[in-house]
Amino acid sequence: MAEVRLEAVSKIYPGGVRAVDAIDLSIADGSFVVLVGPSGCGKSTTLRMIAGLEEISSGTISIGGRTVNDVPARDRDIAMVFQSYALYPHLSVRQNLEFPLLRRRRHASLLRSLVSPAYAKARRAEIAAMAARVEAAAKTLEIETLLARKPKELSGGQRQRVALGRALVRDPAVFLLDEPLSNLDARLRLEMRAELRMLHRRTGGTMVHVTHDQEEAMTLGDRLVVMKDGVIRQEGTPIEIYEQPADAFVAGFIGTPAMNLIDGEVRLGDDSASFVAVGGSSGTAAADTFSIALPDRLAQIARRAAGTARTVPATLGVRPDAVKPTTAPTTGASLAIASATLEAVERYGDRVDLVLTAGAARIVSRCEGTGTELRERATAAIAIDLSKAHLFARDAAGRRLS
Ligand code: ADP
Ligand code: MG
Repeated sequence: MAEVRLEAVSKIYPGGVRAVDAIDLSIADGSFVVLVGPSGCGKSTTLRMIAGLEEISSGTISIGGRTVNDVPARDRDIAMVFQSYALYPHLSVRQNLEFPLLRRRRHASLLRSLVSPAYAKARRAEIAAMAARVEAAAKTLEIETLLARKPKELSGGQRQRVALGRALVRDPAVFLLDEPLSNLDARLRLEMRAELRMLHRRTGGTMVHVTHDQEEAMTLGDRLVVMKDGVIRQEGTPIEIYEQPADAFVAGFIGTPAMNLIDGEVRLGDDSASFVAVGGSSGTAAADTFSIALPDRLAQIARRAAGTARTVPATLGVRPDAVKPTTAPTTGASLAIASATLEAVERYGDRVDLVLTAGAARIVSRCEGTGTELRERATAAIAIDLSKAHLFARDAAGRRLS
């Protein structure tokens, strides 16, 4: 098994698309790392460069301490699994699993075994070893009973398992997985997620998994690498990224429902601070304004960003589970109260998502329970717990203020 390192790696496709822009990434031996980001952010390109399927435009890639820039894909000791299973339709499952083992020296060894009995005998040992590896992989993936079948006689999930098996038999230093679950239906995807984690534990291999699905990324990875527009926006454990997002993009991308990101400004008083949302009508009625007092922690952060100014443009980030409708008067050091209109109620049975408008701000709230008492178009007071809220710079980079 092996560590994978990327140093200032870029990819510019013919035609000038800068798909990957000088990324540095270090993937520890035996870890499970997930590259996640919206479609087109450069995930597949990054993976394909590690695999050697795509030339790099600049930078250095090393696997297990060896620079592989000029090493062809077949000599990199990696195995890659794609979204499309790419099984040979005319071969049985067993033959599909044997194929990656045969491919390398089939022709040469066939010729030699014809002329040399000693070589033919050695080949028998090799064939027995191959059969053992196929059996072991089939057992790991629980497809032993399917070995005689053709791919068309398998379900989507079983096919994907065979595709994983083809990577597994080679016992590579690094597994690269490019959206391997995207073609599966929702239920099977959940099942396969758990199986991938178990597979990782059993093999102890280095795994690099690519997905656009932030929930899949959160649940699978020991570490996440969040990408956008060919650059890494943040790298860390799922919880670090969830709790301390580096910028507004990461904050909005990781977590369901997405974090509320409210554009506005912090107004600093002598010993108080408030956050006021921008936009909305120009009227002065209280209902048009979303204005809340900020707790000391956020006020101090805003003061540091303000320097000598009295206002700071900022985006307030609050997770939906920190917003609750409230009937009783509530107070608390980090609680802010606002008046809102309940626009839509989405009931899931065990929880409800509420879409609220408060002045110019559109806010999603997630609550436990059935929510049967809630009425759309009603006015409600909402309590916003700001103890875990963030402020982001209101510019293109949107860095978290701290
Ligand atoms: P992702 O896997 O994150 O969806 P990709 O790595 O496939 O993203 O693509 C990154 C960017 O590079 C996109 O803008 C895409 O259109 C472009 N791209 C991908 N492959 C090629 C190619 N072979 N030629 C030109 N541009 C490409
Ligand atoms: Mg892709």
